[in-house]
This record gives sequence, C-alpha cells and structure tokens, in this order.
Amino acid sequence: MSFLPPVPLIGSRPGAIALVGAGPGAADMLTLRALDRLQNADVVFYDRLVHPEVLALTQARKVFVGKEVGANAWPQERINRVIVAAAMEGLRVVRLKSGDPSVFGRACEELDAARHAGIEIEIVPGITAASAAAASLGRPLTERGRTERLILATATCRAGESATIGAGFVPGTTLALYMAMHRLATVEADLLATGAPEDCAVEFVQQAGTPVQRIVKTTLRGMSAAAEGLSNPAIILIRWPHMTHMAARPRALVATA
Ligand code: SAH
Repeated sequence: MSFLPPVPLIGSRPGAIALVGAGPGAADMLTLRALDRLQNADVVFYDRLVHPEVLALTQARKVFVGKEVGANAWPQERINRVIVAAAMEGLRVVRLKSGDPSVFGRACEELDAARHAGIEIEIVPGITAASAAAASLGRPLTERGRTERLILATATCRAGESATIGAGFVPGTTLALYMAMHRLATVEADLLATGAPEDCAVEFVQQAGTPVQRIVKTTLRGMSAAAEGLSNPAIILIRWPHMTHMAARPRALVATA
C-alpha cells in the first residue's frame, strides 16, 4: 500500500511550482507529500522559519529568501518573480514555507503570479503552528461544549492598518494568535475590552513542536508581563470557554445546603 498519490501531482513536474508547508520545525512533522516534493525538487526557495533539519532532506539547490515577520529581506514581488522564472526554465520548484502555506503565508501573491504566467502551481499543506502548539500542550484546540469556535488571527498586518484582534472573540472561542509577540499589551487590552474574563487561560508556545519548545501558561489579565523572556516564533492560544462550570456551581451549593 502506498500513501503517496499514484500519479505525481503538479509540483513534481518540470516547470511547475509547489507551495510546500514545512510544518512547525521538526522534520518528522512534514507530510509525506511535502517530503516527496522536496526530494523531487530542482530548487527550493525557503523562509527564515524553515528548520535546517527539513532542508537537509533535499538535494535540491536551496535559496534563502529571508522572509521575516514584518521585514522581508526579499520583497514579496521579487520572490514571486524568481519562483516563476525558475519554473519557466523548466525546473521543479518548491517554495517552502513554515507551517501551512495557507495560514499567514502570503500564498495568494505567489499563486496569482504563477497563474498569471501560466505556470502550474499546487499547495501542499503543512501542520500549522496552532496545531503544533495544541499538541505540545497536550490538549485540543476545540473542546466539545466549551470551545467550538476556533479563530486563527494575526496581530500583524500591512503598514498603516491595525489588526482587529478582538473581533469575534466571544464565549466558546479559542483564539490562536500568530505574529503577536510584539503587541502583547494591545492584545491584552483589546481582548479585555471585548468583555472577556480576566482569568481566560492564555498559553504561549515558543518553537512549538521542536525539541527547544517553551511553554508559559497564564491568564488574560497580565499576559504581557508573563511573556517576558519569550521570543519569536511563538504562538498564543487564548480560550474563552462557555461557562459550563458556572452551571455546575449552584448544584454543588444546593448539595451542601
Ligand atoms: N504559515 C505559518 C505561519 C507563518 S506566520 C504556520 O502555518 O504556522 C509566522 C508566525 O507563525 C510566527 O510569528 C509565530 O506566531 C507562528 N509560528 C511559526 N512557527 C512556529 C512554531 N514552531 N512555534 C510557535 N509559533 C510558530
């Protein structure tokens, strides 16, 4: 039995591009499809957050495009141009991004550039940081009857725009915040302004899924102070559960009365 598709998908063909999710860091969190694309690539354009362990799995030429949060060593337009140009030369191109390329990965620009040039392009999904963080914490992102809504949001947006961090944060929500470490005071204030309880559970996971991960657990009130010493890449999970335990409290009181 084979886990790989019998017919190679787009990204394995000469002159095509695969936007590949590298996962959160550890090489054993790659999908088999991602591994297939890496092993069949002629050239791999990769970001800062892609772990060397993952890069070691390919013999392809590797080109660092140095994308960082809020500061791109290569402007996005240049990345678009070079991946398309490489595909037009007939190379099998992998554009390797951390986590899942569909989550805060600027995949749209690269998909559009390729399609505009008539180049075939596919997305190979990866494990996003929120999923890796939940696994590190040993608890799921959603919990039946407590949090049945999951929001993936970023605190970083285009210059001149402000992220609406608290939008949609209501009881029953887990909020996974990406690229938020530099705006913790704003995050805390915005979420408290939605009416969220001060004791909402907040969990920081730095380098989730890797051997050097760090976890800090705190509450919404005081979260910015609690994160002292943590650095990027880190993700924040903030849970505002339905108050199921509130319903249980009066029963307990009745029982002891
Ligand atoms: N496409 C990526 C997200 C890219 S945005 C994904 O799906 O995971 C970059 C942000 O992702 C970082 O600022 C951080 O918030 C988060 N991130 C990426 N890798 C991470 C990791 N291993 N642990 C914790 N957060 C991570």
